[in-house]
Amino acid sequence: MNADIPLHPESPADPTGLAEPLLAGDRRALARAITLIESTRADHRAQADALLARLLPHAGRSVRVGITGVPGVGKSTFIEAFGLHVIDRGHKVAVLAIDPSSQRTGGSILGDKTRMEQLSRDPAAFIRPSPAGSTLGGVARRTREAMLLCEAAGFDVIVVETVGVGQSETAVADMVDLFLLLLLPAGGDELQGLKKGIVELADLVVVNKADGDLVAQARHAVAEYRHALALLRPAVPDWTVPVLSCSALTNQGVDGVWETIVRFRDAQAASGRLDGRRADQARAWMWNEIRESLLAAFTGDAAVRGRLPEAESAVTAGTQTPAMAARDLLARFRGKN
Ligand code: GDP
Repeated sequence: MNADIPLHPESPADPTGLAEPLLAGDRRALARAITLIESTRADHRAQADALLARLLPHAGRSVRVGITGVPGVGKSTFIEAFGLHVIDRGHKVAVLAIDPSSQRTGGSILGDKTRMEQLSRDPAAFIRPSPAGSTLGGVARRTREAMLLCEAAGFDVIVVETVGVGQSETAVADMVDLFLLLLLPAGGDELQGLKKGIVELADLVVVNKADGDLVAQARHAVAEYRHALALLRPAVPDWTVPVLSCSALTNQGVDGVWETIVRFRDAQAASGRLDGRRADQARAWMWNEIRESLLAAFTGDAAVRGRLPEAESAVTAGTQTPAMAARDLLARFRGKN
């Protein structure tokens, strides 16, 4: 792919005409491009794929940071403080969210547009709420693609935010360079309602709200988490997961978080692990797409659908083994494909 091919709107390489303004950093073009990739219409998908193919050589030049934590830990307050800090250092920040709860309940755990008010008004920031979608896989795919578009538009710090109570944090950890776990200044043992296994995903742990009356408690929590993390096998070789504290409200310690992210990222890039992690993520993403598409084709197949209720009751009644039922259904599916 040659990045220097001159383009004009309606050219086969860019039927949308969005590539050029997007590459020039036009935020409206970026917003429209993201709307396009979020669309489920087949003709939109074809346009989105053409656009992504055109923009892919310009993507990747960013620090991808995943941020998770329970509701109320201060994610939006932190992202706002953090975003404004890195903008101050000359960067451009895009904030994307993964919140599959918004599809199930109609309401979003990650809240509405009033979040991050100051950051959203900054011309060096771009904030996009979670896309609508029926499956976490679908939402994650659109977020990954939105991330590539933001990078092509010149955003060099990408924050992907999620709530640490469901499945979505694994999806986020699988698309970022560094996964940051935000914690409350409370005891380490109870894990603050977080899903089990989430601490193991973290590359960096930050205890937020280390201000006012909570300073001593935050210090205690940092010590406790350091101790707990020392007992875990590090997810990344040669990297002891740092436990920091900060106050998103007063900005205290936010600079230290950014410095640690840069240090991690530089070390990973120098060792080649950054490229390795991204390559692994891309491969896993491809297989996820294959799995999702195959399953959708399978469950959408008329011959399979007609037989499914019978197969399920035979399996639950114990008159057919699950393996036999699966083989029979797959044979019906294959017979038509
Ligand atoms: P989210 O649900 O994780 O996005 O949390 P929010 O950012 O909405 O914050 C939840 C509450 O915690 C709000 O009332 C914030 O003002 C408060 N908060 C966030 N960060 C801090 C902090 O650093 N210190 C203190 N004292 N309060 C904070």
